[in-house]
Amino acid sequence: MARELNDLALEHLSHRFDQTIAVDDASLTVGAGEVVALVGPSGCGKTTLLRVAAGLEPLQQGRVLIGGEVMADDRTAVPPEERNVGLVFQDYALFPHLTVRGNIAFGLKHLTTSERDNQVSQALERTGMAGYASIYPHQLSGGQQQRVALARAIAPRPRIVLLDEPFSGLDASLRHRVRDQAAQILRESGIATLIVTHDPEEAMYLADRIAVLDRGRIRQVGTPDDIYLKPADGFVAAFFGDVNRFAGRVSDGYVAIPLGAVATNGHAEGTAVDVLVRPEALSLGNGPDSGVPGSVLAARFLGRSSLVDVRLKDSSATTVRIHLAGRQLPDAGETVYVARDSNQTYVFPSGDDPKN
Ligand code: ATP
Repeated sequence: MARELNDLALEHLSHRFDQTIAVDDASLTVGAGEVVALVGPSGCGKTTLLRVAAGLEPLQQGRVLIGGEVMADDRTAVPPEERNVGLVFQDYALFPHLTVRGNIAFGLKHLTTSERDNQVSQALERTGMAGYASIYPHQLSGGQQQRVALARAIAPRPRIVLLDEPFSGLDASLRHRVRDQAAQILRESGIATLIVTHDPEEAMYLADRIAVLDRGRIRQVGTPDDIYLKPADGFVAAFFGDVNRFAGRVSDGYVAIPLGAVATNGHAEGTAVDVLVRPEALSLGNGPDSGVPGSVLAARFLGRSSLVDVRLKDSSATTVRIHLAGRQLPDAGETVYVARDSNQTYVFPSGDDPKN
């Protein structure tokens, strides 16, 4: 029951700015205590979707429900301040002339003084900022400002928190720490959290489920495992990691690529397809029987893994990228044998991916 009360449901949202279709028939739900990441390249409509959900952008088409109640449809438009939604933006948007306490108390004017003090103190505790209540935003580090923004968003005890690129202003090491804490606070508070990011790794790391947006359309919604290991299309596969890409045509249920024959499962005979092979699905075999021969172009050590580029010694002279665990650095010019794991090989009809 509690879960249902806290859910955010976006149903068939579409949104235009003049000729630009920013959001195109997008549907998504977020459960209580669930963190859903909305991810996609710049301009794909992430912020617009979030703003429509919050009521900051008037709804054009579709429906927004919070806790099962309609917040916006063709007849209803509940104003943002009555949606019980907390917002955290990239720039934190803290009021410079108010102390940390003043910033957090700002949205609680409707409460009695003691209720307000109580909720502000709780939000400060939760975010680990209790010792900073009387200082001003400019006296805080970026990570601390981010935590105040989060405290301000959760202080009114919202059902939903919407975050737009909240960690992108922080340097890498701080970003990891702050986002861990933020996700934990939001999960523990039972809040339904929708977080916008353009960073696929951040989405994989933080989210229970990920929604992948491309030119306004949701391409896939799934767990990080699903999205990475069972991408719905070439766009999702390529957005979530490097891929080696081959074009081919289905013949007798297979498509021939320079790395061997790939089963095409269900694609009609003669269909033009793209075969996507993750660099980590490739490895270096021991001899001619273990893989396709190639010549090493370059090998780089990345610390925990190595990247090896190999030009295949067939008529295609295709270059493939191989991602190997640990330090494995064959010499440039060395002959190697490239083996392929069929598990991370994906076949999609060609043309379903803007990178084609
Ligand atoms: P980014 O990651 O770069 O912030 P985004 O995925 O959040 O991008 P949106 O900001 O939602 O994308 O923009 C989606 C599309 O709508 C873009 O083509 C953008 O130019 C357009 N757009 C957004 N806001 C407006 C506006 N107020 N007026 C006109 N066009 C807009």
